Amino acid sequence: MELNIKDILEKDEFSKSNIISLLESESEDRTLLFKKSAEIKEKYIGNKVWFRGLIEFSNICGKDCLYCGIRKGNKNLNRYNLSDDEILAAAKFAYTNRYGSIALQSGELESQFITDRIENLLHKIKELSNGELGVTLSVGEQKPTTYKKWYDAGAHRYLLRVESTNQSLYQKIHPNDSNHDFNKRLACLKSLQDIGYQTGTGVMIGLPFQTMDDLAGDLLFMKEFNIDMCGMGPYIEHADTPLIEHAGNLMPLKDRFDLTLKMIALIRIMMKDINIVAATALQAIDPIGREKAVKIGANILMPNITPGKYRDSYKLYDNKPCTDDSAEDCQSCLEARVSLADAEVVYGEWGDSKHYEGRRQ
Ligand code: SAM
Ligand code: SF4
Repeated sequence: MELNIKDILEKDEFSKSNIISLLESESEDRTLLFKKSAEIKEKYIGNKVWFRGLIEFSNICGKDCLYCGIRKGNKNLNRYNLSDDEILAAAKFAYTNRYGSIALQSGELESQFITDRIENLLHKIKELSNGELGVTLSVGEQKPTTYKKWYDAGAHRYLLRVESTNQSLYQKIHPNDSNHDFNKRLACLKSLQDIGYQTGTGVMIGLPFQTMDDLAGDLLFMKEFNIDMCGMGPYIEHADTPLIEHAGNLMPLKDRFDLTLKMIALIRIMMKDINIVAATALQAIDPIGREKAVKIGANILMPNITPGKYRDSYKLYDNKPCTDDSAEDCQSCLEARVSLADAEVVYGEWGDSKHYEGRRQ
């Protein structure tokens, strides 16, 4: 028997076909989905938002993901690597402004030098903040021993998007070589979880070749894997990447945006107490995109605190927003946005994933 959207939303568990129906919902049905996810957020998280001051500390990358503007093969951008002092000054800014946490993100490089550098920076960040700044890392695939070193040095959250859980789609959006191995990505996620990190993953939405079935599978994977944090955003094409050749077959940007909101609403309903990021890419499509995500389920925002002169060079996709703002601009703009979404920024707290706390007990 075909269930209607109202009946599906009353179920405790969604099947794949339920999820597809919700992803395809329109008009009043779509409103019902968003109403349900907003209620769940209110009940399990409250109307709150926590900041992670985002430091995009280097755009140097050893990989060649076919969608990404900072891929190794793109020669049309200036490569940069913040000095330790610049990173520490940005962390100090976050601490002084009571952000609670920072997120360190970069292209992916694996070497003893990087391992030691990040370990040393983590110690210094803890030192300058009396141990009070929480740290999320997002620096790609590394050895388990490296993850463990960084965990011991004070990093406690890690974001590694799986990008797509359909292996054949994963292979279409990455070069087919040992440097871009789907199973290695999964093994990294598992190792992060085993070490004790609050583990976050997510996917891009609206990729070429991607189907509703793929997206439903992604949500079921995240539930099954028992993630603590989710960061999902729309795929946005970049002119200097190989995937641009499929730009003509993509769904319109506004549909990718809408589908991302539905994915966020669904993961909020399916995994009630996880942390969900309102991705910057949403704002590249709709000026109040992140605010809309907060309204229907997201509870984490990542104000960019990378020094302004580098921002233009961390262009993952075309029209990336806020590349000419300063850290102060980002904060006041985000605060205004959050209050537009009737939510409140919580300062001076880590804002850890409640799901993680529950899982560890
Ligand atoms: N290098 C690390 C990694 O790949 O995990 C972290 C930095 S990487 C730039 C962060 C995320 O950017 C990726 O996981 C990917 O989902 C996203 N991204 C890259 N290119 C994108 C694009 N064209 N549109 C939307 N998101 C993109
Ligand atoms: Fe490098 Fe990450 Fe971009 Fe892939 S997504 S090319 S690993 S920065």
